Amino acid sequence: MGTIQIDNLSREFAKTAAVDSVTLTVDDGDFLVLLGPSGCGKTTLLRMIAGLLEPTSGRLLLDGRDITAEPSKKRDLAMVFQSYALYPHLSVARNLGFPLRVAGVDKAAIRERVSEVARMLEIDHLLQRKPKELSGGQRQRVAVGRALVRNPRAFLMDEPLSNLDAKLRTATRHELTSLHRRLGATFVYVTHDQVEAMTMATKIAVLNKGRLEQVGTPEEVYDRPASVFVAGFLGSPAMNLRNVDVTATSGMVRLGAVGLDAVLWEGDVAPFEAVLGVRPEHLTPVAPAAAVTAATGLTITGTVDIIENLGSEEIVYVRVGEDRVAARVPRTGAVAAGSEIVLRAAVEHVHLFDAVTGRRLE
Ligand code: ATP
Repeated sequence: MGTIQIDNLSREFAKTAAVDSVTLTVDDGDFLVLLGPSGCGKTTLLRMIAGLLEPTSGRLLLDGRDITAEPSKKRDLAMVFQSYALYPHLSVARNLGFPLRVAGVDKAAIRERVSEVARMLEIDHLLQRKPKELSGGQRQRVAVGRALVRNPRAFLMDEPLSNLDAKLRTATRHELTSLHRRLGATFVYVTHDQVEAMTMATKIAVLNKGRLEQVGTPEEVYDRPASVFVAGFLGSPAMNLRNVDVTATSGMVRLGAVGLDAVLWEGDVAPFEAVLGVRPEHLTPVAPAAAVTAATGLTITGTVDIIENLGSEEIVYVRVGEDRVAARVPRTGAVAAGSEIVLRAAVEHVHLFDAVTGRRLE
């Protein structure tokens, strides 16, 4: 078991809230990623869960038990530090057994548990080596193993891949995903890297300035961002976002903005200001005539500014009035810099947010 309930948790530093009234449940077996830009409070939140930092207010429950005031050691949670947290002078076997030795477990039991964990992580052939004789990925596995020997209720990880090069990061990402699947344990993982979040998480919690913006599966957070912040944070290139006036003309709700036109839905609505969002991959170049005849959907008309060749596809940056819009399109060679272009997106791919609060509309 490893259900963590975070209930209205806050932490202030010099009267500024690093974590501001966060309420969130990490279910047993979740791989929950705390995601957000630098300084948004991810580490502060994780350290409070670990018991390394006291909350200013709020509560923490582990499997229903209030652990807010409990010391770190008693929480049954394992913090996996980056690879350099291994003891360099101890063998892998001794590194793995260290937490048990500290806890006073007898030698035979330690040996048994260490070989069990080493087998599980497929590092049993490395037991006699020193950390410096291991690759980055192997060190990472030893660090996880050292947490695992104590059978924790959950694993807490703070940017564990940030020291690794790009190739190793991908390999270790796969390893962590399969490890999570095999163990079925609860993971809480801090990162600012959206690729890590999208690829490993069962749930992503997006933080901004200490506040929880949205929590959901990677698909929910990507496909239905709850706010302009989440919409702009996830995705590369980022979602195109722009302030627009929404009005109703002859029963059709549409946009008024230079180079943009959309028929969003049928019906009457009082005019309002909104932020319109559309992802680059949902924009398709069309012949101008197709846009005129189409019913609902978004049409963008502009001039091709820059084309970035990504090999399999290209990113076309289109100048629309004062703005630039990005479209991710197949590399057909049909789009030329300097030419006029018409882009279309289906209405279900058009996101609308409140211009004042930034929250998703509908
Ligand atoms: P990063 O990805 O850069 O590590 P983060 O999202 O983990 O960022 P935190 O480290 O949790 O962010 O910091 C959140 C805010 O709290 C920041 O403004 C930071 O400067 C502040 N902060 C964190 N720890 C302390 C501290 N011990 N004393 C004072 N301010 C702190």
